[in-house]
Amino acid sequence: MEILDGKKISNQIKEEITVEVAQMKERGEKVPHLAAVLVGNDGASLTYVGSKVRSCKKIGFESTLIHLPEETTEEDLLKQVHQLNNDPAIDGYIVQLPLPKHIDEEKVLMAVDPDKDVDGFHPTNFGKMALDMETFISATPFGIMELLKRYNVDTEGKHTVVIGRSHIVGRPISILMSQKGKPGNSTVTLAHSRTQNLKELTLQADIVISALGVPRFLKADMVKEGVVIIDVGITRVADDTKEKGYYITGDVDFDNVSKKASFITPVPGGVGPMTIAMLLKNTLLARERHNN
Ligand code: NAD
Repeated sequence: MEILDGKKISNQIKEEITVEVAQMKERGEKVPHLAAVLVGNDGASLTYVGSKVRSCKKIGFESTLIHLPEETTEEDLLKQVHQLNNDPAIDGYIVQLPLPKHIDEEKVLMAVDPDKDVDGFHPTNFGKMALDMETFISATPFGIMELLKRYNVDTEGKHTVVIGRSHIVGRPISILMSQKGKPGNSTVTLAHSRTQNLKELTLQADIVISALGVPRFLKADMVKEGVVIIDVGITRVADDTKEKGYYITGDVDFDNVSKKASFITPVPGGVGPMTIAMLLKNTLLARERHNN
């Protein structure tokens, strides 16, 4: 069994980007600038946005955090989005989800300029991804593909079972795994909450990508020997014995499933760090595309 070490690979990617940014500086070019919009004070969102901004600083990007109060109106948030669209200093930006309930998420995501949509959530970018065109692939599926690529995991002709059909993980990764390419060329089954006999499907899988958000959902008796496991789930489980009052766990019963797996991602330290690295990669791509 080999661990797909997302932390290690994400550090490699960040080092590669750091070198490129230093070269940009030497040539007197503007360095990539990522902005993040956060509305409200959701604990997990604060953590995610904080680490995105810190990562930018480390690799030499410019970054701007726009932290708006919980009671921000949809109209004011849309104004902020338009400002970012029109600000030539900003190469790419993200609007951290979830947004407060009184704001229509879809309306906001639709207002983001696709050329600055480094999260790859805009329908234009999602559509281009589905058609194999150059685009911003959203960071989590992009990170999974990069991890498979760097570990040379064979996906061609394999049966991949994706669990979860969300717009940000399950659906896009099911498309990418079925695309012509390496990684890709997989035969994909997309399972979700209405899927019947999931265990019958996962038992046939050469690769399982789990993105449902239920702690230790995937058990050892649901997978075959030699399976490749990508655990996207990140759930905070309350635990008073921990300093933070919780611990993080994935969708996979790691201790038992790892005994049967050929490759497996840990949680934390697997897909999570790759997501941040690929957001930075998309921001670098945005800068390069704006330069050309
Ligand atoms: P979501 O809640 O939007 O979707 C969950 C999906 O799981 C749904 O499509 C649903 O149909 C499916 N599902 C639920 N119960 C099921 C069941 N019993 N059997 C089969 N399918 C079932 O989730 P999401 O936004 O895709 O996130 C999924 C998990 O991944 C969460 O834990 C989230 O925190 C994590 N996540 C991690 C990263 C990362 O960077 N590693 C990024 C995004 C999301």
